[in-house]
Amino acid sequence: MRFQGQLLLGGLLGIGALGCNGVGVDLPISAKQQSASQQSPSQNTVAPAATEPWRIDSARAMKYLRELVAFGPRPPGTPAQAKQQAYLRDKLKSDNLEEDKFKATTPVGDFEMTNFIAKFPGTTNDVIVIGSHYDTLSSVKNFVGANDGASSTGLLLELADQLRAHRHTGPAVWLVFFDGEEAFKTWTDTDSVYGSRHLAAKWKQDGTAKRIKAFILADMIGDADLNIDRDTASTPWLSDLVYKAATNLSRKSYFYNRQQPVGDDTTPFLAAGVPSVDIIDFDYGYNNVFWHTPQDTVDKLSPNSLQVVGDVILETVRLLGVETSKEKKQ
Ligand SMILES: [Zn+2]
Repeated sequence: MRFQGQLLLGGLLGIGALGCNGVGVDLPISAKQQSASQQSPSQNTVAPAATEPWRIDSARAMKYLRELVAFGPRPPGTPAQAKQQAYLRDKLKSDNLEEDKFKATTPVGDFEMTNFIAKFPGTTNDVIVIGSHYDTLSSVKNFVGANDGASSTGLLLELADQLRAHRHTGPAVWLVFFDGEEAFKTWTDTDSVYGSRHLAAKWKQDGTAKRIKAFILADMIGDADLNIDRDTASTPWLSDLVYKAATNLSRKSYFYNRQQPVGDDTTPFLAAGVPSVDIIDFDYGYNNVFWHTPQDTVDKLSPNSLQVVGDVILETVRLLGVETSKEKKQ
């Protein structure tokens, strides 16, 4: 991703202007139980929706992150990336997994790229997309992308475990592992976000984009010193909803003390009219000193940061489901 403008520091007074209807503080337990009782016997292999708050297992997310980093640098077209793709296929083998393959023309030649899409059903026709890029930067030697690539990808694998094990109400959730986010030479509109540009265009053309209620992107979310930016290029109501989710979980101190516009895998989806939010901490080390350097290694990261972001994403998914059921009643 790249920083697109001037950094703005300080409190964000506008964020408090969320709806005062109290939605989100209470868990919709009765709705979940009701839905569980309506499931057919064939669907009973999945545990009923938990009545306690839905939380990720950050130790397991961290384990996935370490396994990804152990492949070494993973740019498109490298043997390490092929190994990583086999790893993703294996981890998601029991899921409804789609591989979106395409040819990308880059300043350094053509590459076969693959986006992975793992689809978990909900109870409505809407879709929530949660994304991460899994490629790593090619232009810096010995760059293993522990934070930039592996942190969000490890988190998505953990979210897959959660979605597989727990039935949820509301929109379907699709996890998208994007290829080719990083620029090969210098970040431009045509040398960046190859995977998300391809998929956003495809989904706009085939009508899928209209079903996407929200696209939540995670990027660089493992930093032990976690400070999620408010990305001013993201869709405001969805950024507000993420903040509301963080507030519900008493985690808002990690969010939005800083705001700046970021170019990322959200950019093509925003252009395609899909409400999108980038959950990103674009201050990795003092003055972002570890970003895109060989110092982007696991020792800078913390499972607590994965826990915060993973839980806030699940709470955002829940809130989006609550909003869907409210819309239906109207
Ligand atoms: Zn990067």
